[in-house]
Amino acid sequence: LLTHHPTVRTAVATHNIRSIAAAIALAEEKGLGADQFEFQMLYGMASGLHQAIPALGYCLRVYVPFGEPVPGMAYLVRRLLENSSGQSLLVTADADALKATLASAPPLPSESIRDSSQGRGANPGLVCENPKLPPFENQPLHRFTDQREHQAMRTAIEQLKQDLGAYYPLRINGDALETEDFIESLNPANREQVIGRAGLADVKHAELAVAGAREAFRSWSILSASERAAILIRTAGLLRDRRDRWAALEILEAGKTWTEADANINEAIDFLEFYAREALRLDSPDGLDIPGEHNLYRYSPLGVGVVIPPWNFPLAILTGMLSAALVSGNTVILKPSSQTPVIAAQFVNLLSEAGLPDGVVQFLPGPGSSLGQYLVEHRDTHFVVFTGSEAVGTKLIESAARRRSGQTHVKRVIAEMGGKNAIIVDSDAELDETVHGIVRSAFGYQGQKCSACSRLIIVGKQYRTLLARLADASRSLNIGNPEDPAVNFGPVIEYAAMERIRAAIREGRKSAKLEVAVEVPADAPGFFVGPALFSDVPRESGLFREEIFGPVLSVLPADNLDQALDLANDCSYALTGGFYSRSPFNIERVKREFQVGNLYINRGITGALVARQPFGGFRMSGVGSKAGGRSYLAQFMNQKTLTENTLRRGFAPPSGTD
Ligand code: NAD
Repeated sequence: LLTHHPTVRTAVATHNIRSIAAAIALAEEKGLGADQFEFQMLYGMASGLHQAIPALGYCLRVYVPFGEPVPGMAYLVRRLLENSSGQSLLVTADADALKATLASAPPLPSESIRDSSQGRGANPGLVCENPKLPPFENQPLHRFTDQREHQAMRTAIEQLKQDLGAYYPLRINGDALETEDFIESLNPANREQVIGRAGLADVKHAELAVAGAREAFRSWSILSASERAAILIRTAGLLRDRRDRWAALEILEAGKTWTEADANINEAIDFLEFYAREALRLDSPDGLDIPGEHNLYRYSPLGVGVVIPPWNFPLAILTGMLSAALVSGNTVILKPSSQTPVIAAQFVNLLSEAGLPDGVVQFLPGPGSSLGQYLVEHRDTHFVVFTGSEAVGTKLIESAARRRSGQTHVKRVIAEMGGKNAIIVDSDAELDETVHGIVRSAFGYQGQKCSACSRLIIVGKQYRTLLARLADASRSLNIGNPEDPAVNFGPVIEYAAMERIRAAIREGRKSAKLEVAVEVPADAPGFFVGPALFSDVPRESGLFREEIFGPVLSVLPADNLDQALDLANDCSYALTGGFYSRSPFNIERVKREFQVGNLYINRGITGALVARQPFGGFRMSGVGSKAGGRSYLAQFMNQKTLTENTLRRGFAPPSGTD
């Protein structure tokens, strides 16, 4: 803060003598005058310091808490607790011992902290034949408040605009195949702008691709885990080097804001780094030996898989599903989402650049209902990895279960599906952070996240107050083309989505009260629907039960936590959920009783990070292990137990010795 004077005017609010001394020393080091920052202290506390600080020539602001007595009580209690803490300077009786320690130098950060701060950032894109990888760390986000990072992103968007409109062919066995028909990808914020065109595959192409993937499986599946992991690590390095351009592409093709796009590219990098490490972990020998018996638990790939991603996290989800399948030794037919085929095509090219052999990924853009379905039903595909709607997911599970003539395996389906996610706000919740978290969860990326909050259940008397604050916060969102970094609410993905969401809002008005429906300019050149907030939503309504997948939030009151949990759990989905509360007792109860795959306490419910918050739900939200978690990769492999009786040659020596 002091470094950035005068952009930032620092106020040091403390009664801690050591902190005061540190601030004075730092300010001197930065060459700041005594009038260029200030101290702040509470009226009635540490009155000796109130005299000492100005006597040294520094500015001191003495303040009193002011406002409603009841909310203010929490503040005063916190102060009381601080001052009566057993570690407080004020209650330390031994003044002589204090003198000895007070002026001693603070301890340096431990070695381990220093090591990790130099972590991956210092060595991006580490590749080696037998990767000895540093521990996994999430890729840090950009700080667009930094002028250089801001400018770099602006430049990336402008440069990308010069390169739009290219044609992306199918890729079968490494060959580029052009087709007469194509999928046109438009910028959802500006329908005049064509992002690119992708070839349109049909059943003949599907046959070629499956045959090619079977052939490629023979050589790809016998590579070592470290050889395959090295390709993922190399891809992560390439992505990291060009992350601004990739984020720019997400902004233009998917309508993401700067920060959402940046986070999505980081998540893709994280998936590559994490699954590479997971593959190596699963490859290391595992098994319980006893004298005379040698046991090994090994993994082997399944075969040819079909990967079907959605458009809403166009790079991250695609990368996660695809890289997990590949690093496990499978070959893949990738059928990208028709709304974001350019991102998918460019990612396939990136994999080739990183050294992925031809034929290991076959790129087949095309209609889900015909081409996707055909691939799922194909006798020679072994597994399906799908993320998308419940309607399509359940259909795929059913189709994959049917055995076709000549098929010698049961198909595995990993399906991540929808959500109708609720946040419960307890009667004692702190509203400032609650409003912020709800708005981000409900309206971030225009509510088009499977994890988005679409039901809000408010316990007790704060109902009207919170509703009014949410209404204000929704109106204050800055709607527009997300190329502009000031915009925090962009378009929905396509015309059909816009019409569907508008119809859901019209329908919702029949059963609930529409508190807010923010208007968008009628002549907006893209697909815009403003945020909508409904109150007093009936339990049986579509607003309460169905996934709308847009910026529509339904709010309900609850008399108590029992009722709130009952409402929240009354849902066929179980994906994400949230709870804002200050009661440790209630928090523990909600952890036990709220039926969701990812539960977030006192924070927003979107933005799961790879490894830190493995992601995925149950009930109709999906089947399979959580993405970004330690049990994900095993789903892509057969598991083999090898047991060898070694008695015939005596007791097995401990491994590693002759
Ligand atoms: P969607 O179901 O319409 O499409 C998903 C993919 O399936 C697309 O690639 C599509 O072309 C393909 N497809 C459609 N019909 C098919 C068929 N019969 N056979 C094979 N493939 C077919 O979903 P969407 O609109 O792309 O994405 C939004 C949905 O995804 C929402 O329901 C959202 O909740 C869900 N989602 C879930 C997660 C999660 O992790 N649980 C993450 C993101 C999105």
